[in-house]
Amino acid sequence: MRHGTTSVVQDLDVGQEAARRRSFAVISHPDAGKSTLTEALALHAHAITEAGHINGKSGRRHTVSDWMEMEQARGISITSASLQFSYRDTVINLLDTPGHADFSEDTYRVLSAVDAAVMLIDAAKGLEAQTMKLFAVCKHRGIPLITIINKWDRPGLDALALMDEITEKTGLEPTPLTWPVGVAGDFRGVVDRSSGNYVRFTPTSGGAHVAPEDVLPPAAAAAQEGAAWDTAVEESELLGASGQDYDPESFLAGISTPVLFASAVRNFGVHALLDVLVDVAPSPGPRPAVGGEPRAVDDPFSAFVFKMQAGMDTSHRDRLAFIRVCSGMFERGMVVTHGRTGRPFATKYAQQAFGRERTVIDTAYPGDVVGLVNGADLRVGDTLYLDKKVEYPPLPTFAPEHFAVVRAKDAGKYKQFRRGVAQLEAEGVVQVLRSDLRGDQAPVLAAVGPMQFEVAEHRMATEFNSPVYLDRLGYTIALRTTREWAKVIGAERGVEVLAREDGELLALFPDPWRVSSVRTHHPNAVLEKPTAA
Ligand code: GDP
Repeated sequence: MRHGTTSVVQDLDVGQEAARRRSFAVISHPDAGKSTLTEALALHAHAITEAGHINGKSGRRHTVSDWMEMEQARGISITSASLQFSYRDTVINLLDTPGHADFSEDTYRVLSAVDAAVMLIDAAKGLEAQTMKLFAVCKHRGIPLITIINKWDRPGLDALALMDEITEKTGLEPTPLTWPVGVAGDFRGVVDRSSGNYVRFTPTSGGAHVAPEDVLPPAAAAAQEGAAWDTAVEESELLGASGQDYDPESFLAGISTPVLFASAVRNFGVHALLDVLVDVAPSPGPRPAVGGEPRAVDDPFSAFVFKMQAGMDTSHRDRLAFIRVCSGMFERGMVVTHGRTGRPFATKYAQQAFGRERTVIDTAYPGDVVGLVNGADLRVGDTLYLDKKVEYPPLPTFAPEHFAVVRAKDAGKYKQFRRGVAQLEAEGVVQVLRSDLRGDQAPVLAAVGPMQFEVAEHRMATEFNSPVYLDRLGYTIALRTTREWAKVIGAERGVEVLAREDGELLALFPDPWRVSSVRTHHPNAVLEKPTAA
């Protein structure tokens, strides 16, 4: 059994290791190119040798991240973890957010474990719905954002118009680091706005290899690209004149966003993103703790669980608890304290997981993600620590928008049914709402996105041996109310009040009009956005 020590030498190392870590996630709308970008990043960082290994979808070489049968059937990635690679002596952790159109709490939770995010925008589509939802979470958490305008090799919107759209929709000031030479669809390269040089884009076949990037001085660029170069330089100067130059302070404060133009599929602009991550993205800092001083990154080990994942390998029935290290050094085998129960937790089985590939992990530092096997007692939001107690704040849960009654298909398997529902609730796969009226045999599952129901249904059948019926309910809004108001509100037509495990009472409404009419009837009623579970 090894214990983390707090010798001066180790503290120094931990501080240095933390300083060279960058942990980020990509937020985007489906099809904007997140999988392609992920592959390209890893390719550039030499984590893998050829694109197509990590998140490949049908038609590409491997389908590494499709663990669950359901995922394979639908060609989507539901499960997620992190990819670690090194670049320029920096260790980069790319936390994978599920890329399907549906929302799940998982996606949001991943954002609680990163220090920065990359907002990936399709040049032809601009800011889309899911990007905006995820952006709102980043903004709420104060996560600095780097913006990539992707697919510049395809016809798309005007570059300046895209900058305006970013300002209008997000309130962020776009501060481009590069500016495209050639309109969308005629991607010749970019002006590197800090040096004024031309980074010429040389397409390679299929984008499977690192694309060569030639750097030319302005005069040579002008001679080669003519009017396209002149336009790019003029527009870049225009941006400068309106104060849209990269500014580290406002970037870290979440006021401005550095912008890069790219073609992920052609591997162009990816190199620039890696440099930006190393040069400007923040390294892990002290994480605020409940009722105490924040723990410095070189303090003794602490981490929190941001994600639970089960059933990735049906033959092993394993359950991985993914933690983000906040302070100190993680050493596999060390015994830490599980904050919620106060019990010791042995970290003998620690893994790194991305896609199907898993490797045993021996040490980790602040910013890193570790998958702990046998983490059945752990729950999302739990803190693990060494030495002095620390408790990280609970992760936010989001107001559910989808509701379904769950019932065991086989009434004889009630025990399995109850155990399964309790486990899914503990893991945060779905929220479980109950009322005396509905009884314990038919609780209501609540989710941010309907796919959470499919995961629940699948796991109830395959893992807990209790196939279930799910009957969707017509509610779309959940608002918190009080015990005093519950009776009154619950008596309103079309409204139902249910209790969540943490004791919060949620009033469910079919639509916003019902909410406003109930509010009109009861102007003093407590009806608020639900708080974290
Ligand atoms: P995700 O859903 O965000 O992970 O998107 P994918 O990475 O799967 O990409 C969606 C589609 O867009 C795929 O057909 C990609 O080949 C394509 N794509 C991604 N990046 C680019 C790009 O830079 N240019 C072009 N032309 N296509 C791209």
